[in-house]
Amino acid sequence: MAGKLIFSVFFLLFFFSAVWCQDNETERSLLKKDIYYLASDTLEGRAPGTKGSKLAADWIIGRLKKSGLKPFVKSGYGDRFSYTENGKKVRTMNIIACTNPEKECRLVLTAHYDHLPMESLHSREVFKNVIHNGADDNASGVALSLLLADYFVKSDAYREYNIVFIFFSGHESGLYGSDSFADRHFSKIKSAKALVNFDMVGRMSIAEPQLFMRINEGTGWNIEFPGQNESFKVQLQYNDFQLDHTIFAHRELNAATLSTGMHDDYHKGTDDAEKINFEGIVALYNYLKIYLSKILVKN
Ligand SMILES: [Zn+2]
Repeated sequence: MAGKLIFSVFFLLFFFSAVWCQDNETERSLLKKDIYYLASDTLEGRAPGTKGSKLAADWIIGRLKKSGLKPFVKSGYGDRFSYTENGKKVRTMNIIACTNPEKECRLVLTAHYDHLPMESLHSREVFKNVIHNGADDNASGVALSLLLADYFVKSDAYREYNIVFIFFSGHESGLYGSDSFADRHFSKIKSAKALVNFDMVGRMSIAEPQLFMRINEGTGWNIEFPGQNESFKVQLQYNDFQLDHTIFAHRELNAATLSTGMHDDYHKGTDDAEKINFEGIVALYNYLKIYLSKILVKN
């Protein structure tokens, strides 16, 4: 009897410690793997139309397939488009996947995966011929999306819902990816409760942890927002930001961008993986699992 009781006590202790101590070791290592690869010198800044961009796209598609996400549009995971920059045609693609293609779209999560080539006009370096790895901008947003994709596709509770994940290209040259997606496929996502875009989510301040929620003025984000949580403060910012969510907000979708904010390495060669606050992204991931689930099940 005593043996049984001791066993039960140990079982309960083990059970509750497993539930309570979410140390997120797996998530942390996946985030590191994704960000260190996407922001490595091999990919040379993932500029649209380059070999680095293609490698980044292959990596993202590989991760989505491994998690069990399905293509959302007829062309497969990649949705090719082109635009003209400085008189040159740039060919690139968005990457689109979803958790349950049988159902109508309920939630859209987006992040741009492109960054800057050497000598880019958008570089803030004095001498611009350096590789711009774009670890925060926006390997961080891609890695967070991939982690959430993995979480939602594997959770039985959300099996009934279709969550669409879009990874835009052509962002840095002028939001060409979100434009192309909206032109071609908006009707397929207009049933969504919300579109949440992640752009630069890897530099949460340690001294003053904050998350910024950017909403375009005059567009209505009408979902109740849980402002505070134990890890960081959430600040709403209303402005006329031109971000990847903007085109959707103007088409009357609940759309916003989440970001941990600006820093000195923005659009410089020093936006590197070593400077990412991985604990900050993990805190964001834990928060979003709860927050996005509420949007998902909302009537
Ligand atoms: Zn940027």
